[in-house]
Order: sequence, then C-alpha cells, then structure tokens
Amino acid sequence: MDTKSTVFCERLLDVIEQDIVPLTCAGVEVGNKVFGAAILRKSDLSLVMAGTNNEIENPLNHGEISTLNAFYKLPIEGRPDTKDCVFVSTHEPCSLCLSAITWGGFDNFFYLFGYDDTRDAFKIPHDLKILSEVFNIQQGNYARKNAFWECRGLIEMSEAIGGDRAAKRAAQIERIRATYADLSASYQAKKRDNNIPLS
Ligand SMILES: [Zn+2]
Repeated sequence: MDTKSTVFCERLLDVIEQDIVPLTCAGVEVGNKVFGAAILRKSDLSLVMAGTNNEIENPLNHGEISTLNAFYKLPIEGRPDTKDCVFVSTHEPCSLCLSAITWGGFDNFFYLFGYDDTRDAFKIPHDLKILSEVFNIQQGNYARKNAFWECRGLIEMSEAIGGDRAAKRAAQIERIRATYADLSASYQAKKRDNNIPLS
C-alpha cells in the first residue's frame, strides 16, 4: 500500500466532510446549490480556503468560483502559489469551473462525485448538457490529463489504493453521500423560490 496516497485521499475526504459540508449546509439553507470546494497546500495538506456555492447572489458563484474568489482575497504575502496547492471539489467541476481552475494556474484537481452522480443523484444535468451543447463534448469526456492539469475522482482513487483502510474510506464516502442526499433534497425543495437561471 502506498502510504502517501492513502494519507492524501483520506485528508481530502476529511476536508470535504469537516470543512466544506458545514459551509454548504448554511448555503443550502438559504437556497444555494450543494457544490463546494477547497484549496490545500501540497506541502502539508493544510487548508488554505474552503467555500460553497452562492448562486443566489450571482449565478456564476459556483462552489469552486466562490472558493477561488475568497482565495484571491487573501493577502498576497502568505498566500501560496496555486502551483503549490491542491484543488478539491465536492462534485466534478462544470465547464466554467474547469476553466477557472485552469486560469488560476492549478496543475491538479480532485473531486468526489462525478458528472453522472450530479445528473442522476443530484438532479442537476447542466454540466453534461453544457459540455455537449456548447463544446460538443459528449458524456463529459473532456481531457482529464492535459497540458495544464491532471484530475482524479476520489472514489476511484480510494478503490485503487485499497489496503486495510479501504472499508473505512468506503464507509466515510457513503456517510458523505448520505449527507449530500439530504442537502440535495433540501435544495430541490427550495429551488422554485430562487432566481438561479439553471437551477
Ligand atoms: Zn461550476
């Protein structure tokens, strides 16, 4: 078992559960979507910034964009270079956020739930539809490894790592999934009252 990968994967799951979810609970409560993100230092995996969707204020405030905007409000002294950071997204980033991560200069991102989950379990089909309609990319088949970055899904990563902690991680992922199912139900129940164009 690769200890470094295990520590990395488990830290990212903990950040989602402990740092992003509380922000998203508050965001969903006021009508926002369930998506969130975080930025960590590569060196020690310490949290630099976590954020959540704030589309009721501006439909461009996706979880990733809110996080990036807050990150760039940090004083430049002490703010790590994006090349030295890990980008974490609760859900596979949409085309807007793929571009934002690219323009920000990150060389990686990691996500928990993939596009199919977002469409089927979270009833938000826009990621795949925009890629198909605007970019002519079918089945969300963008370049997961390219000249700018490489991305990876945490569920697949956890399974690939395996080892004696695999079951613990799988249980954590299911616990997080259940939390997001509740958040999603809450969002879907409220969304008729918001002005988000692609709700
Ligand atoms: Zn997005």
